[in-house]
Formats: sequence, structure tokens, C-alpha cells
Amino acid sequence: MISRRSLVFPIAIAATVAASAIGLGQDHDQAKGKARHRYGYKDTPMLPGGRWHVHDSDRPLPRAVTPGTCSTQDQPGQAPSDAVVLFDGKDLSRWETERGQPARWAVQDGAMVAKPGAGAIRTRDKFGDCQIHIEFASPNPPRGRDQDCGNSGVIIFGRYEIQVLDSFKNVTYADGQAAAIYGQYPPLVNASRPPGQWQTYDILFTAPRFKPDGSLESPAYSTVLHNGVVVHNHTAHFGPMVYRNTVPYKAHDPRGPIVLQDHGHPVRFRNLWVREIKGYDQP
Ligand code: MG
Repeated sequence: MISRRSLVFPIAIAATVAASAIGLGQDHDQAKGKARHRYGYKDTPMLPGGRWHVHDSDRPLPRAVTPGTCSTQDQPGQAPSDAVVLFDGKDLSRWETERGQPARWAVQDGAMVAKPGAGAIRTRDKFGDCQIHIEFASPNPPRGRDQDCGNSGVIIFGRYEIQVLDSFKNVTYADGQAAAIYGQYPPLVNASRPPGQWQTYDILFTAPRFKPDGSLESPAYSTVLHNGVVVHNHTAHFGPMVYRNTVPYKAHDPRGPIVLQDHGHPVRFRNLWVREIKGYDQP
């Protein structure tokens, strides 16, 4: 058995060797007189794509983001520092109706509440590829059944729906239950919490791409975690969401709003934020 003490020495040597190797990268960059980090190499093989060497000293460092904090049932968490906060518990200023009028949902106890008959609401801002964090709580005590129980939805671009439903003990068709890509894929598992409890969706959405002639280049993709459990893993949407049917993609803008559905049930939402997802090496 190797003692902990005998491991420390080789690690210390390895760290010293690595530090002196990094120093070579410093010389390189200082010679170029550029104000950037001084670590890495230029004499290593090129990575596929032909842009960067392995450990390339010219490769830009990712910008820093202060991570958010997790929510508890009593307290919403904080968004990461670079997120667009869509609802902070106070007002609906970032939301409007689908006709561009002020949103008419209620704000109660730090939550925004779907108001039956007030219609869907959408973000005033538009987003492309993005990370979406949503928290919702189904009405408690539950009322209704099947699709008529705690129904709402996160409809990205007004087209691609991640279903919101009370699916704790309420049974409906598989591709219409909570966290389903509505009408297309059930969630991999049912990770629902009881009605009244706060639940989370973390959605990584890749917008579809269209060719200049309007035909589909690549579909929309969603990766979804429901209460921290993976329920879709980079799943391609067949096309926009429709009820009892399928329809093909139709070209649309590369950016769109996030829509929350009014399905006649007072579903509560809190701690909503979104981050745009850019490519590697982007500022
Ligand atoms: Mg729905």
C-alpha cells in the first residue's frame, strides 16, 4: 500500500517540471509583446480544425462567470452573473402577451402565476442557442386529470415545447406528460415532484438552422434536466409542436422569444433566467 506521504514527493516534482515547461510559453508570448496569458505552446500538433495547437498559448481564455446558487423549496437561488434574469420575483417587465401587450399574469409571493384566460406570455427579448432555467409549481391541491391538471409549457421560439404538467400522480399520454417534448418524446424518466413543490427545468436549446432556400439544415435540439435528472439528451425535435399532428419545419429567424403557455391552470413560476450559448473561443 502506498502511503500518502510517499505520493506527495512525486507530485511536487511533477508540478515543478510543469511550471518550468509553462515558462517556455511565457517567453514565446513576451517576444510577441502581446498582453495576454503566457502559458502554453506553439510547437505542438494542430488540433482538428486547423486553428489551434494543442495547449495553444494564443488561444483566448474563457471569460469568468460567477456561478449562481441553487434554490431551496423556501428560497429561490441566484442566477449566474451573465444570465438575463427573466423574473426576479418582483414584476413582469420582461414579459408581454403574444400581441405585444403588457403581460397580465399575477405576481404573488415572489412567483408569477399563470392567469387562466390571460393568454400565453413571451419574453420581450429574443434568444438563439441558449440555456434556460425555469422553476414551476403545480397547483396544490391538484384539480383535474390527464392534460387538465397543472398544464402550462415552456415553448421556445413559440414553437418547441417542453411540457409543464402535474405528472406526480396524474397519468396522461407519455409524450404529453411533464418534461415531454410535447407530442414527440416522453421524458426518459418521470422526475416529477408533488404538486405545490418547486420543480426545475434546465434546458439547453440549440436553434434549428435553415439553408438560404428555406430548407432545413439542422433541427432544433434540446437537452433537458428535470429536477436535476436528465430527461432528454441532445434530442432532435421533429418540427414545431402541434396537438395531435406533426408538421415539418418552416424556416424562421435564428432567434426567438421564450413563451410560457396559459392552459387555464394557475401554475406558478419563479427564478427564471436564460444565458445565450456561444461557440468556443467567443468573448
Ligand atoms: Mg402544455
